Amino acid sequence: MLPNQDSGQICKILIIDDELTTRLILKKKLEDEQYQVQVANNGQEGIVIAQKFDPDLIICDWMMPLLNGLEVCQKIKADPQLDGTFFILLTGREEVSDRVTGLDSGADEFLCKPIDINELKARVRAGLRISRLNRQLKATNEKLNLVNKQLNVRNELLQSLSMTDAMTGLLNRRALDQSLPHLLAQVGKRDGYQIHYRYICIFMMDVDYFKRVNDNYGHKIGDYVLKFLAQRLQANVRPNSSVYRYGGEEIVCVTQGIHPKNVLDYGESLRKAIADYPFKVSADLQLAITISLGGAIASDAHAFTPHDLLHQADLALYQAKHDGRNCVRFSSQAELLIKTHAGSS
Ligand SMILES: [Mg+2]
Repeated sequence: MLPNQDSGQICKILIIDDELTTRLILKKKLEDEQYQVQVANNGQEGIVIAQKFDPDLIICDWMMPLLNGLEVCQKIKADPQLDGTFFILLTGREEVSDRVTGLDSGADEFLCKPIDINELKARVRAGLRISRLNRQLKATNEKLNLVNKQLNVRNELLQSLSMTDAMTGLLNRRALDQSLPHLLAQVGKRDGYQIHYRYICIFMMDVDYFKRVNDNYGHKIGDYVLKFLAQRLQANVRPNSSVYRYGGEEIVCVTQGIHPKNVLDYGESLRKAIADYPFKVSADLQLAITISLGGAIASDAHAFTPHDLLHQADLALYQAKHDGRNCVRFSSQAELLIKTHAGSS
């Protein structure tokens, strides 16, 4: 590749100087080297041209009216499109402190006036090499950012998969472990003047005599039953309910914002959604499936840890099994709440 080219493209140089003779001499000498050159006679014009011309390298005079070279440099380096452009500052000053000021503004190189043309050409060649590396680095960074974004999307997908039960498509126990503490912490919490919600109802459900299904029809049919059960429940739960496969044939339904006076009807509606319509597991096999439900309620007056609330629901489920299955029972604390609010509007 020729020194005046970058990826086969002629390198572009912008000269900004308020002195006509300097502009003309530099333009001529650099065009002789086969560079593509544009000129601007002040800083403001230089910035406008730079944004359109997108130069690989800028040679800019320090002492100019309106906008001096340092200010031009700062604006160029603050522009995300141009910040990799190699910037040479032309100066008549040679004091070290001035160079520090120039470097602080972001200048990459200095050239002293009067300009030695051979030195200028050498510095331009070196500057263009660095400019090219800057652009490559920028392109690589952009690619890396894109890869990072794709990785983030993939991670989110993996996380959601790790929260899902593969067989039923329900949320899994890990998801419940993560969400329940957060949901319980919001009970009775105010957002301004509004309370998020005052109650959370949790139903622990279990398929009645599920072992018999597996024993009589095999595990494949047992799996079908769980899949149909999950679908039937998902189709019948409230919009503010989340359904989790807790383990085996146990399913947990968490409902935020449900009033205690409605929880019995809700539990009954879920029980009936399963019991009233047999499961057609194959062309010639229908199974009458029932579930037992144990309910517990957390309220702003009765805070529970996730473990205690699940335990309350589990005890109620045990009671439902004890009372003959295919029924809904509540923890004693939940029953009290339900009675207190019965008939309330
Ligand atoms: Mg000047």
